[in-house]
Amino acid sequence: MTRYDLQDRAAIVTGAGAGIGEACARALAASGARVLVADLDGERARRVAGDISDGGGVAIAHVVDVSRPEDVEAMVARAEAEFGPLRIAVNNAGIGGTSQPTGEYDLEAWRRVMSVNLDGVFYCMRAEIGPMARAGGGSIINMSSVLGSVGIANSPAYVAAKHGVVGLTRSAALEHAAQGVRVNAVGPGFISTPLLEQNLSAEARAQVAALHALNRLGSPEEVAGLVAFLASDDASFITGSYHLVDGGYATR
Ligand code: NAP
Repeated sequence: MTRYDLQDRAAIVTGAGAGIGEACARALAASGARVLVADLDGERARRVAGDISDGGGVAIAHVVDVSRPEDVEAMVARAEAEFGPLRIAVNNAGIGGTSQPTGEYDLEAWRRVMSVNLDGVFYCMRAEIGPMARAGGGSIINMSSVLGSVGIANSPAYVAAKHGVVGLTRSAALEHAAQGVRVNAVGPGFISTPLLEQNLSAEARAQVAALHALNRLGSPEEVAGLVAFLASDDASFITGSYHLVDGGYATR
């Protein structure tokens, strides 16, 4: 994987105990960032942070529920207390939600998906932008999905939330460019992670793989490579953009 110059930059990755977030935390740390590995599941966060530290990187675990604004404020404060001014944030935590058509979608399930996948990203940006602006600038990467630009049957809450993340990203990029804060969204296709494995049978995964031009699922590391680039100064002219890493899914 390509390394970028992120030496000693304070970074937060939410949902970093598994899947795409874990790969992002590892990629940022491999480029020298000091990473707050934030997840709902403390055991997983400690495993990832421990692995990074054992490999010579700098990481600490932090428990957060991104659907709780007070948790998110505490997460940003901890990152700054441990690592100094916040420079990088990957707002990645997300859930799949139940599978039902819109006309029957469970109200509680809708609220839960929105609270994690959309409110959570808003709470994170709201808490991160001020400190980053005071530090002279930074890079925020919001994890949307290819389903931030196209629909899919039976996941209305997920699709709506991921479209919302793209809109939030664009608004914040306009508002905070002058303060040196770049804000971008990433849109993965279907990636082989615990989230996908829990939500789809092996047969369904094979069918989904065939929907990508590359005829396979992506890996978390293939998403993390893009995230590390967007976090770095190599992406200094990129803000307000929505970047697909989808194996050609959206070309159909
Ligand atoms: P994952 O394997 O389930 O990992 C997500 C991590 O986030 C888990 O450790 C999870 O903990 C944690 N998490 C869940 N709710 C949280 C909360 N409220 N606060 C903090 N952490 C929380 O998921 P993934 O597949 O890597 O997905 C990561 C992101 O990429 C999500 O936003 C997802 O929508 C997006 N994405 C995924 C795919 C895909 O195909 N996998 C495609 C496009 C976009 P628990 O397991 O304890 O809940």
